[in-house]
Formats: sequence, C-alpha cells, structure tokens
Amino acid sequence: MGVKQFKAESKRLMDLMIHSIYTNKEIFLRELISNASDAIDKMYYKALHDEKIDFKRDDYYIELKIDKKKRTLTLSDTGIGMSKEDLDNNLGIIAKSGSLAFKAENEANEDYNIIGQFGVGFYSAFMVADKVTVVSRAYGSEEAFKWESKGIEGYSVSSALKQECGTEITLHMKEDHEEEKYDIFLDENEIKRIVKKYSDFIRYPIKMNDVIINSMVPIWRKNKSELTEEDYENFYNEKHYGFDKPLKHIHVSVTGAVNYNAILFIPSRPSYDFYTKEYEKGLELYSSGVMIMTKCSDLLPDYFGFVQGLVDSEDLSLNISREMLQHDRQLRLIAKKIKDKIKSELMSMQKNNRDQYEEFFKNFGKTLKYGVYSDFGKEKEEIQDLLLFFSSKEKKSVTLAEYVSRMPEDQQHIYYASGENINRIEKLPQVERIADQGYEILYFTDEIDEFAVQMIYTYQRKEFKSVSSGDAGIDKLAQTEEKEQSEQEKELIAFMEQQLGDKIKAVRISKRLKTHPVCLSSEGPMSIEMEKILNSMPEGGGLKADKILELNENHEIVQRLKDLYQEDQEKLKLYTYVLYNQALLIEGLEVEDPVELSNKICQMMS
Ligand code: ADP
Ligand code: MG
Repeated sequence: MGVKQFKAESKRLMDLMIHSIYTNKEIFLRELISNASDAIDKMYYKALHDEKIDFKRDDYYIELKIDKKKRTLTLSDTGIGMSKEDLDNNLGIIAKSGSLAFKAENEANEDYNIIGQFGVGFYSAFMVADKVTVVSRAYGSEEAFKWESKGIEGYSVSSALKQECGTEITLHMKEDHEEEKYDIFLDENEIKRIVKKYSDFIRYPIKMNDVIINSMVPIWRKNKSELTEEDYENFYNEKHYGFDKPLKHIHVSVTGAVNYNAILFIPSRPSYDFYTKEYEKGLELYSSGVMIMTKCSDLLPDYFGFVQGLVDSEDLSLNISREMLQHDRQLRLIAKKIKDKIKSELMSMQKNNRDQYEEFFKNFGKTLKYGVYSDFGKEKEEIQDLLLFFSSKEKKSVTLAEYVSRMPEDQQHIYYASGENINRIEKLPQVERIADQGYEILYFTDEIDEFAVQMIYTYQRKEFKSVSSGDAGIDKLAQTEEKEQSEQEKELIAFMEQQLGDKIKAVRISKRLKTHPVCLSSEGPMSIEMEKILNSMPEGGGLKADKILELNENHEIVQRLKDLYQEDQEKLKLYTYVLYNQALLIEGLEVEDPVELSNKICQMMS
C-alpha cells in the first residue's frame, strides 16, 4: 500500500486551506457535520423506501468525542458510509471544482476570502488538523477501510475494522503557536458553541458525552420572530447556497389548500457560473423534513433562477419520482405561490428600498429581461414592472410605470435609444431631437433590451419606439404641416439614392435633426442596433435593418449638396459616399472600406 497523490486541483485547494490565515477556522466543523447529515439523509431515504431495512429514528445520529491527551476530535455518523472507491473518488479529488474557478476569478480581490464564505467541504479539516483519519464502512458492505492523510503530500487507503456502516473522522489537531490557537477545538464548551452557531437545526441529534447539543428544529420550521439576520446568513452559508451574504431572505409558512414552509434567498451577487449554461436553477425540496431533491427546477421560473433556498411540504409524497413530480398538482400550486411571493417581495423592495433594488437589478436584471423575451413573451406581463432602464431625464434607473406617469400629454410613445454605453447614446443625433421636444428617453445598453421591449410592445397602451426609427419624434411635429419638397430636392434625393444603391432604403431631407448634419434611422421592426447584435451571433448574419439616411434641412451641408447637384455631380458622388460613412460611424457601425473612405476624404480635401 503506497501513498497516493491528490489530484492537482485538490492540492491547490488543500494548499489554500493549510495556509489560510483566515480567522474563521471553526467552520470546518460545520462542513464535517453537514457531510455527516447528508450521509444520514441518504441512509434514511433508503430505509424509507426499503422495508427490509429495519432502522429506527434513534439509530441516526452524529457523535463528537474529544481526547485532549491525543489532541483529537472525532466525529462519527451512522450514515451511508463510503466504499474503498468512494474514499478514493470523494476524498481524493474535489467533487465540485467550482470553488477553485471562483477563487481564480477573484484572486485579485484580496478581501474576498472564499474559505470562510463558501463551503469547500471536507478539505477544510486541514485548516485545523495536521492529520486526518477517516474510517468508513459503506452500507451493504462487509468490509471497512481507512483513509489517512497528513495534508498535501498525499493519502493512503487501507483495510480497517468497523462494526456498523457509517463514517468516523478523526482530526489530529495542529499544535498551538503564537498567532494561531488550535487547543480551543479540544475544548468541550467551544465545540458546543460552534455546533449551536452553525449546525443547530441539523435534523439528526448531534451528541457529545451522551447529551444532544443541537435543537434539531429545522430553521424553516422555526418562528420568524425567533430568528435573527445572522441565523439566516449562517444557514445560507451552511447550505452553500452562495459564497456571498444574501441580499434578502424570504421566509414563508403557508397553510390552506397546500401546506409548506419555505426559506428563499436572493443572493447579493451572481454565483461564478450563474450566467453560464452549466448553471442549474432550483430549490431544495423536502417532504415532511426529509430531503427528496437537491435541485427541484420546477419550483422556479427561469427568470427567478437566481433564487436559492428550500421548500418543505407535508403534502408531497416521499415516494414520488422526478417524472411524476412534474405533474404533481400540489407542487405546481407551490411553484405558483412561490413565484408570486418572490415577485411581490421584489416589488416591495423596488418601492421601499430603491437602493437595494437597484443593487439587485444590477446583478439579475438581465435574467428578468431574458424572461420577458423568452417563450414569445408569455411571461412578459408578470415581469415588466420589475424592469429598470436608465432615464435621460432622471439620470438614473426608472421603471416603466414611472416613465409613463411623467409623459407629457402630447407624447405618444415610450422612447428608447440603444448603444454601447450611456455616453455614446447621449451623443446620438436622434437622441438630441427627441430630448429637445422635452421627452424622456430610456437608454438601452444591454443587448437584450431592445428585443425585450419589442416583445412587450406596448406598456399602458403606449407603444415603444426607438429614437432611430423613421417616424420617431413626430408627435408634436405631426401637427405642424410638412413642407412640400421642391423639384430640386426631389432630384437631389433621387441622385443620392441611386449612388447608395441597396445600402439604404431612402434618403430624406429631415427637419428633425437639430445640429448634426446626418444620421441613419431605420424603418420597420428591425432597428440598426438589433442588426448589430444579430450579426454578431454565429447564426444571425445577413439580416439588415431598413436604413434611412437623414440629412439635416437646416444644416449648410444641404445647400452645398443642392449646389453641387447643379455644378459638379462627380463631387456630389464623393460627398454622398462620405456622408453615408459618417452616419455609419455615428451609429457605431463599421464602415465597409476604411481605405476607400480615407482616399475619398483626401480627394475632397485636395
Ligand atoms: P460536498 O459535500 O460538497 O459534496 P465535501 O468535500 O464536503 O463536498 O465531501 C465530498 C464527498 O465525500 C461528499 O459528496 C460525500 O460523497 C463524501 N463524504 C464526505 N463525508 C462523508 C460522510 N461522513 N459519509 C459519507 N460520505 C461522505
Ligand atoms: Mg460537504
């Protein structure tokens, strides 16, 4: 039997653990107890489904023993145990490398210490111990095995003796030194305190010297008034719902047509994988205190996929399968109620604690907008009031309801402008002309924004309109009479249109621009911004917005063009080309041929 090496990732994590200067080393106990509780859960669940297993409730417990002379703390459980392979696979490598990925991302951020925030499981034992011994016997096996490691060097697995199935973990505590004290973890009262703090609600008895030291009442069954903010935070950490502090918790006890308790958390920031395909939404599901599923996705709509937490209901059958669960009437009822509850809590946060809501929206607003857009807008009415957009007038985020409530009577539409960032949008010629009429504009900087509002289409009977769309801003102007275009202007336009060919749909001499000479606007459902986004996608290429080249009637350039039409049509071609390209640049589009553009500008200069 030789010493085996840890997998590279595990080594890194272990290294982190051992050299952690984190003061909150006590969380190792929370991690080990939580693993023991998980293992008993598995055993208990098995017993519930298999009549041949004759276990009584009293058979499930976790026991702590201190041996001061040997400097050891031993934690044993009557859970499902581990086979030789399990020991190799579960303790030899890190099951979830997520914490490492997270660490790498946040390496720069020094005050972000993941070890204390985020459960890293079994390895946390090495924060306090210089040797860890695990003796385990898997359920259904005659043999037991011993896993032992002194840390980074590796581990060994050998045969061992154990009477019952379950696991016994012995930590040999490090010696005290000046900066760090480890003796405290050999102190009975200290261990009791730590158990109370982090593991009080564990459903199985945690015994020390034959006395049960936890209350065993799950936190979600407790009265809200008994619980402090810290209790919820500890629970959130214990459960590894996130590595952050939760932004908000929602604790509900519902009785009636369906009965359940739930604790839901809105994280204060997205987990490292939240915006990836790997992310799995869902809540933990318990049936009368027994965990039946770790991620029940049917309990949450996608747009609330960031919510963490659990639901415990006595109305769900223990023996229900995943497939059946989907069609379960009770579960659907719970899901509906949970959705409504989350929404109403968010709405009240929006109303009563705007700063907190803005913080929330910064992190998860995108998910809500995707929710509006997906399934052909099926859920848009549920979500639209949760949205925030940056307002040209308020210079901060506003809701659609706030926008509409401020609209002057003559304003027909909800105006928006899209662009890379607020600075760029503010400089768009089209923005200027709408803002000048006293109208508020919503600035869209997320790619999804425009798609989302097109899906909403109208809000309180007001249609959304892009400032770049051809007929935007005519609310007031529509009342003033459009001036007839002169023959001369018509000829000029026809000439320019012919020059630009199918690059544009039309050229227009417009009275809507104020100071800028040209701009591009669009007609029809697809905007220029959407064209950009679709063309940046692998399958979205080739789609084009119907573009209009608008020339500012009041700008001297129009007179110059008219003159050129009479005097020098070759030069007019040059001007047309350059003006069109200028409009592209203002709109944030790429010019087709920068070299040619440069040549033409030089030609004009000389
Ligand atoms: P996690 O609990 O997040 O899976 P851990 O590092 O805490 O990660 O544990 C790794 C794995 O080791 C567990 O998933 C489990 O399979 C196994 N394990 C740890 N402790 C025990 C135990 N007391 N009984 C049975 N299996 C255990
Ligand atoms: Mg664990």
